[in-house]
Amino acid sequence: MKKIAKDKLSLLWKKIAENYQLFLPITEGKVVNFSIWEEGAEVDLNTLRTVNSPKNIIFPQTETYLKFKKEGKKLNLEVVANKGEYVVFGVRSCDVASFKLLDNVFLDEPIDKFYEESRKKGLIISQACLNPQETCFCNSFGINPELAPEGADISTWELGDLLFWEAQSEKGKNLTEALGDILEEVIEDEQEKLNQLKTGIKDRLKDLPLAQINPETIGGDLKEIFDSEIWDELHRRCLGCGMCTYVCPTCHCYDVKDYDGNKGGERFRCWDSCMFSDFTMMAHGNPRTTQKERVRQRFMHKLVYYTNNYKSYACVGCGRCTEKCPVSLDIVKVIKKLGGERNEL
Ligand code: SF4
Ligand code: SF4
Repeated sequence: MKKIAKDKLSLLWKKIAENYQLFLPITEGKVVNFSIWEEGAEVDLNTLRTVNSPKNIIFPQTETYLKFKKEGKKLNLEVVANKGEYVVFGVRSCDVASFKLLDNVFLDEPIDKFYEESRKKGLIISQACLNPQETCFCNSFGINPELAPEGADISTWELGDLLFWEAQSEKGKNLTEALGDILEEVIEDEQEKLNQLKTGIKDRLKDLPLAQINPETIGGDLKEIFDSEIWDELHRRCLGCGMCTYVCPTCHCYDVKDYDGNKGGERFRCWDSCMFSDFTMMAHGNPRTTQKERVRQRFMHKLVYYTNNYKSYACVGCGRCTEKCPVSLDIVKVIKKLGGERNEL
């Protein structure tokens, strides 16, 4: 294990940025999001939950596939090259876990080549959560934010003035070697303090208000859950704004569109939301014509359909929807309702 003094972190950013595009949680205005680091950027490693998840880096909100140009009767096509190698520093365990859930979909046959390329070029550095928030419930989905998460190339922990650093993959080891003297070896006493820190985080998780949320409490078969009367009640408050899907690290629906100018244009994909009334609109119309069907689709997908396909829930308990839904209709309420606990809505 290695370490670096926190007041030397800007040297670390500089060194990494020599060879990679470096994404860090950066304050812009009053919000913190993952952005490309430049000298003088206001890096914020304390904010637990960025507004947007780092999904945006791997699977951008808008991504151009190809450009086309008309020359007389000829149409010239240019496939847009993917980005170069990049490092994302400061990814929390829930967001690291979300990448695996996206992989299940995009790297399943037929493989999404743009996504695959993007994943290959990225190196993920996780950051343990010292103070999980009241709206966090990652533990309910088997995520342990005090440990090195599966899928991180390097894991880090903050302790006092130090940042501990442990390579987890070949890519992570290579970067660690390339950083040379910037990182120092941890001594035995510090290792012991780190172990105590991990135990402390684990204990704090047990006291969080949502610690008891358990998706396993959802009983019944698919048809029973689909026909449940809870959807009649739950959907009424939904505004169909799509906020929950946009901030969610595991939502992955998108639309493909052409922007056609007079002499050329672009084909691009952009995130879509199952909460929108024109989602998956076809020539004959929309397969889900009511907000009840749309709300049910979102939560059935996260808690039942995805699970049937990939043996895992499509939620990592990050709490973004819990925090952002303007009418407090989030996955926690749905799990409680489907799980049979009659909580106040
Ligand atoms: S559940 Fe909430 S955030 Fe999602 S579309 Fe409905 S109102 Fe918007
Ligand atoms: S459903 Fe909500 S809590 Fe679960 S991963 Fe998405 S935004 Fe996070």
